[in-house]
Amino acid sequence: MAITNTKTNAKIWLSSPHMSGNERNFVNDAFDTNWVAPLGPNVNGFEKDIEAYLGEGIHAAALVSGTSAIHLGLILLGVTSGDEVVCQSMTFSASANPIAYQGATPIFVDSERLTGNMDPEQLEIAIKDRMSNGIKPKAIIAVHLYGMPYQVDKIHTIAKKYDIPVLEDSAESLGSLFQGINCGTFGDIAILSFNGNKIITTSGGGALLTKSEALKERAVYLSTQARDNAIHYQHSEVGYNYRMSNVIAGIGRGQIQVLDNRVEARRANYDFYVRNLKGYDEIEFIDEPDGYFSNRWLSAILTSSYELREQIRLALLAENIESRPLWKPMHLQPVFNNAPSYTNGVSEDLFLRGLCLPSGSNLDAQDLEKVVSIIKSVLNV
Ligand SMILES: *Cc1c(COP(=O)(O)O)cnc(C)c1O
Repeated sequence: MAITNTKTNAKIWLSSPHMSGNERNFVNDAFDTNWVAPLGPNVNGFEKDIEAYLGEGIHAAALVSGTSAIHLGLILLGVTSGDEVVCQSMTFSASANPIAYQGATPIFVDSERLTGNMDPEQLEIAIKDRMSNGIKPKAIIAVHLYGMPYQVDKIHTIAKKYDIPVLEDSAESLGSLFQGINCGTFGDIAILSFNGNKIITTSGGGALLTKSEALKERAVYLSTQARDNAIHYQHSEVGYNYRMSNVIAGIGRGQIQVLDNRVEARRANYDFYVRNLKGYDEIEFIDEPDGYFSNRWLSAILTSSYELREQIRLALLAENIESRPLWKPMHLQPVFNNAPSYTNGVSEDLFLRGLCLPSGSNLDAQDLEKVVSIIKSVLNV
């Protein structure tokens, strides 16, 4: 059983890259044709692949990161200095940082318990309160956390009621569906991330999504230094160097071919954890409500206390297994100390009791068994 032994102490990662093998062919094409630049056939091809996958008339602009996509998205929505932007508090800091890049103020909104995402009630309270202060929010950033769609119907109904555009942060939810429709197609603008730990990766990368071809073209123009149509380098606006490289777009082309397999594998991880841990009083899961389909980018459990969460995390760490607390809400982050927030205690509770377990599509049965047996040993069962 030498094969088993070599694996015994190998680190089990939270979410590591999982190549299909075909990525190299597209990357080799880039080298063979010398398209080693932030433009070329892989960039255009990857955009077409994303558009075909998502449907709904989406146009995609491939960029260097999800963060740059959010930044350009806010610019396209006209967010500037002095504006306020409502943002889901329970998220990765990359959702909120671009608000600060624009000199605008984030207004954080807490979560609901059904999906862990933006609470429609708190959202409406926040909008009304900001408007009563004389400032109407310029945009709403809502996030499908860990692949679980937010309450798309309710959030977008409120956004429409007050005529505020939604920037849909779909960085974690490529392959997730709300009522049968792909996440990434609901926002006035949406974004994807292809960072190393996401469900598919280009090592680093992202995309801006829009149903407007004109907006896509404007995103590409701004992401390539806002060059006017002239024979020399002429610029009438401030531009950015945010376009995706043709080399890494090749990785994306190989990855998107296996996206559905990756969703299946991650959902199987989640099902495994549910099958093996759901009976115990100390462990809860966030199930899919009717009409929701999560890609289960990360499988999360809620423990009965902060102390138990830490016991489990440390027991896994001692066995070289990576796990991670849920995102620390932005309204509790030192960097956003001064930002107004509308809270109900839910995101703080999820943060204190929640733990993301190893979730990669490249985990095998032995890895998953090991994780579960360590958790059971902490539970004394
Ligand atoms: C990963 C992530 C981002 C940022 O994407 P990058 O490609 O890493 O810049 C934004 N929002 C959320 C919710 C994310 O998980």
